Amino acid sequence: MSARTLVIAGASCAGVQLAASAREMGFDGPIVMVGDEPHLPYQRPPLSKGVLNGRTAVDQIGLRGPAFYDEQRIELLLGRRAVALDVAARRVTLDDGSALAYDHLAITTGARARVLALPGAALDGVLSLRSLDDALRIAGELGRVRRVCVIGGGFIGLETASALTARGIHVTVVETQTRLLPRSFTPRLSKYIADVHWHRGVNVLCGRGVRAFLGTSRVEAVELDDGHRVECDLVVTGIGVIPNTEWARAAGLPGDRDGALLVDTRGHTPVPGVLAAGDCVAMPSPFTARPGRPVRLESIQAANDGARAAAATLVGRDAPCVAVPWFWSEQHDLKLQMTGLGEASDTLVLRGRPDDHRFTAFHLRDGRVAAAHSVNRPAEHLLSRKLVAAGVAIDAERLADESFDLKSTLAPV
Ligand SMILES: Cc1cc2nc3c(=O)[nH]c(=O)nc-3n(C[C@H](O)[C@H](O)[C@H](O)COP(=O)(O)OP(=O)(O)OC[C@H]3O[C@@H](n4cnc5c(N)ncnc54)[C@H](O)[C@@H]3O)c2cc1C
Repeated sequence: MSARTLVIAGASCAGVQLAASAREMGFDGPIVMVGDEPHLPYQRPPLSKGVLNGRTAVDQIGLRGPAFYDEQRIELLLGRRAVALDVAARRVTLDDGSALAYDHLAITTGARARVLALPGAALDGVLSLRSLDDALRIAGELGRVRRVCVIGGGFIGLETASALTARGIHVTVVETQTRLLPRSFTPRLSKYIADVHWHRGVNVLCGRGVRAFLGTSRVEAVELDDGHRVECDLVVTGIGVIPNTEWARAAGLPGDRDGALLVDTRGHTPVPGVLAAGDCVAMPSPFTARPGRPVRLESIQAANDGARAAAATLVGRDAPCVAVPWFWSEQHDLKLQMTGLGEASDTLVLRGRPDDHRFTAFHLRDGRVAAAHSVNRPAEHLLSRKLVAAGVAIDAERLADESFDLKSTLAPV
């Protein structure tokens, strides 16, 4: 096994998984992990859930205990940012002017929250949620705010709305598209989610853009594009992310049109010695309507699976990432679990009743299960991952019939 140096830029889910997997697979060389946040690497999913609703303490969200990094001989350089890359010299420059030589570089720098460049965006109380510091800033405001305006009806916005509603805060969600979760959900499921939020007291405004944030030093209202004012004492924006790849793309690494680094299913970038994984990459997926199209999947599963594939590449093993995508979300008392990619699906089949808040919506593409969205049905979700992975062909009527045993559609292993 080569004892050459691995530098990992980005100290979070994908970076830590890559380091751990590299060690498990026998990589024996020095590992240096650079992260621009001051904290030990932590999990992001609880930030918009337990950390905001007060049920999860910050010391519970570490990805690994502090001893892990010593035991695995992973040198952590925290509070330092990679700012430049010289692929010919195999060197990464950090923001303090120092440089790290590498034999292998893994880029796992994730993504940052997109901000709304609108009048008033610099007012106190206009915040976004991506990092632990963001979550602590929002949590620190909660004792004194009564009305919060959440901009963005995607997963981050809706989880934030749920967590704050649970704390007795009145929340208005503003979404530019005509429905919630427009990128992931069909209109029927969007309506279901909107109804759930509405019944829990969230004021949902779809089809409205934001024109400005109003206030003198602190935000007092959000002005919508129809002139309507949403009075509030805090704004949380959740309007998507931008991959943290500018520094790497400046060195010639190719990106997609959103800036995600292009990698193959083994985590290779086209540049020798440079691997990448996680929220900052677009990787070909067999689960898209056009198999092999690169997609950027913002999920823990994609970060972990991509990191494992990159670690395998590093040690000379061939273990491409062909994992079925899955994702979860918690909103009010719903546990949402999603698998597959519903793009270009042509038939939606409900198994169970939305009125009971326990059902799975299966998306079929050409008669095969392409994606499934489950509400409060964890066992069925696990099974549906297998159905998606196998691309099981099934008749819509059978799928909807709860007395039909779905397991029987899977070939015995
Ligand atoms: C609030 C929230 C809730 C979420 N909930 C879920 C969920 O329920 N389920 C799910 O599957 N996914 C969820 N996600 C998504 C999931 O957290 C991400 O997909 C995952 O964190 C991606 O991991 P990553 O390591 O690729 O990137 P990141 O977690 O973004 O980590 C990248 C790290 O690199 C650092 N960095 C950036 N640039 C540099 C640089 N130049 N030099 C050094 N360091 C740098 C960043 O600051 C960051 O610490 C959630 C995300 C958020 C923000």
